[in-house]
Amino acid sequence: MARQLTDEVWLVERPRVNVSLVEDDVLTLIDAGLPWDGPAIREAVRKIGFDPDRIERVLVTHFDLDHVGGLRAFPEAETVHVGRADAAYVRGDLTPGFGDRKRVFQRLTEFFRKPPQAPVSPVDDGETIGSFTAVHTPGHTPGHTAFYSDALDVVFAGDLVFSDGETLSLPPWYLSQDTDQLRASVDELASRLPPIEVLVSGHGEPLVSGGSQALQHLAQETCGSGGNG
Ligand SMILES: [Zn+2]
Repeated sequence: MARQLTDEVWLVERPRVNVSLVEDDVLTLIDAGLPWDGPAIREAVRKIGFDPDRIERVLVTHFDLDHVGGLRAFPEAETVHVGRADAAYVRGDLTPGFGDRKRVFQRLTEFFRKPPQAPVSPVDDGETIGSFTAVHTPGHTPGHTAFYSDALDVVFAGDLVFSDGETLSLPPWYLSQDTDQLRASVDELASRLPPIEVLVSGHGEPLVSGGSQALQHLAQETCGSGGNG
């Protein structure tokens, strides 16, 4: 149910989505799974050896039901951090329109989603939170944000990429709001990441080594940049 990836990072395995626990300066959760994942995440955190009510911080990679659904299971959290362009949706102040099929999907799932009790704080590109640096990586959603920690040797890439434990790929086009933007974001993150071993994406098996290298490889493949484009 929970698997230790490094001294400070645990993968809380849920059936369809990855949730992670990090022992940073404060106990930190990365994404919160589907609404019905909440109790199981709390139980997994307990099994790891922590009190789930001690989770002070949640870093959310983006607004999608499978990443924000479980937030209400953590009412004690001091702050939920989410990319600025997605924050109003997480708070429930805005509901996605019907502009494209991605938004239709979000709208349908609205029924299951309630805003978290914990305060939602919008995150800007380059902001640091604990040992993490935020990188705005729009495309999958407008506010999609990746979080990396040089000190902890880990990057949480959300749904910017999918991982099978060995290689990375782009998520299917129909899941993303803007695929050109998503490709540009892969390039952006790849160029800004320090050498990092562990890469955890929102879905699939994490990379336990060569994470930043794999991302650079994908950026070269998908952007077709012969030079340093
Ligand atoms: Zn997802």
